[in-house]
Amino acid sequence: MSGIVILIIGALVYFLPSILGHEKRNAAAILALNIFLGWTVVGWVVALVWAVSVEAPLPAAAPAAPSYLCGACRAPVRAGQVKCVACGKPLNWPAPAGLKKCPDCAEQIQSDARKCRFCGLEFMPEKRTKV
Ligand SMILES: [Zn+2]
Ligand SMILES: [Zn+2]
Repeated sequence: MSGIVILIIGALVYFLPSILGHEKRNAAAILALNIFLGWTVVGWVVALVWAVSVEAPLPAAAPAAPSYLCGACRAPVRAGQVKCVACGKPLNWPAPAGLKKCPDCAEQIQSDARKCRFCGLEFMPEKRTKV
């Protein structure tokens, strides 16, 4: 019986890296290294070190920038992009407060401006009859 016990203990020791690393993302690679190179001792030590090493954290998800969707194809777009990278449609961003969009050249200008500073288009003074 002692022979079998030694065999089992030997197998346990031999596969220790795989046992320790079975929950790792690269458990299959550890197992392969363990099986194919474990007999070289160096391979076994490498597999063991690999199995007990702290895994590098997964690359953090893209920074939590506010996500926008293309109005045409619903592809996610980044703020400030001029065109949708998926469908190529120009993106219309809401003008920041205090700015308006020149109807002629589409540049953003002060909402109080009477004249576009980009193309020189003159605006009619805004009617503010409704108060
Ligand atoms: Zn699109
Ligand atoms: Zn203009």
